[in-house]
Amino acid sequence: MPADLLPLSIKRDGVAFRVEWSDGLVATVPFQKLRDHCPCAGCNDERAKPADPFRVLSAREVAAGLPVPVAMKPVGHYAYQITWNDGHDAGIFTLDALRHLGQPVAPSKDTHAPA
Ligand SMILES: [Zn+2]
Repeated sequence: MPADLLPLSIKRDGVAFRVEWSDGLVATVPFQKLRDHCPCAGCNDERAKPADPFRVLSAREVAAGLPVPVAMKPVGHYAYQITWNDGHDAGIFTLDALRHLGQPVAPSKDTHAPA
């Protein structure tokens, strides 16, 4: 990824972020997908384990419901630290990860303002 490729804006759009990149790409990044790809050591460990059919959600996960970022702060010029509604904040999401987890939004040909 080129070093000058940066998000121009990151907005909340329902249960996803809508990211406008400096090269013109607009992509949505669903919160659930971001949370599932949390790059921290703890989550990497969890994902490396074989699937546990008896795994149940922790009380905190149940209470939190759908993962929603409650805070997002820049880390240097290359990443964001996201704090989730379940309190987890160990993941540092690089711009590269943000870019790769995004689903491009087709440019709208509709010239009318959305209803
Ligand atoms: Zn994590």
